Amino acid sequence: MQRRVLIVEDEPDIARLVREHLADVGCDAVVAADAAQARARFAAGDLDLVVLDRMLPDGDGLVLCGEFRRAAATLPILMLTAKSTELDRVVGLEVGADDYLVKPFSVAELQARVKALLRRVEALREAAATPPNDERLEHDGLEIDVQRRAVHVAGEPVELTAREFDLLLFFARHPGRVFSRMQLLDKVWGYNHEGYEHTVNSHINRLRAKIEPEPARPRYVLTVWGVGYKFAEPPAG
Ligand code: CA
Repeated sequence: MQRRVLIVEDEPDIARLVREHLADVGCDAVVAADAAQARARFAAGDLDLVVLDRMLPDGDGLVLCGEFRRAAATLPILMLTAKSTELDRVVGLEVGADDYLVKPFSVAELQARVKALLRRVEALREAAATPPNDERLEHDGLEIDVQRRAVHVAGEPVELTAREFDLLLFFARHPGRVFSRMQLLDKVWGYNHEGYEHTVNSHINRLRAKIEPEPARPRYVLTVWGVGYKFAEPPAG
């Protein structure tokens, strides 16, 4: 089944290359050369993935990323950026990108990231099409309906991206166990590269902002200084 991808990229050579390489992994991609075209295509709906360049002739890809994320909570967004400072990377993730690639990137890396993001779309769709069962995780006011991929905190629904949900579910299934950022990349993202640990930090910050009553004093996803993170242990007794 073909996946519909929007590539937002003003450099025609890069746009064409990305389009061709995504066609190899089953994606039917359209290219928008600026933010205005991108907004128009996005508004038409029916997308499985957005590949979004940072520097656009009529705007900042980060602004678009934030807009798309607010309008489509679970649509995977892969940012492309020519800037490689850590700050730029983190900012991309803070505004709602699921992942990013720094130019120049390899074809294999692009395809691997896209496939990983699309697998999560698939999981969401399957979950939506599956009749609900009773698999639920509950901890101190946080409820996870695994089959429906629905999360409630104190009875209120919380909208998570696919990756945020996977991260939370992974934690909640291993309460009390400490995971390093590299282990989380491996288990939740499905890849494990030096230098991407801040991807984990950013997602945890976003997850906390959504689920924690007091994000600065987390109750569910706890920092273990110098090591990584863990999900709170079940109450004694
Ligand atoms: Ca550009």
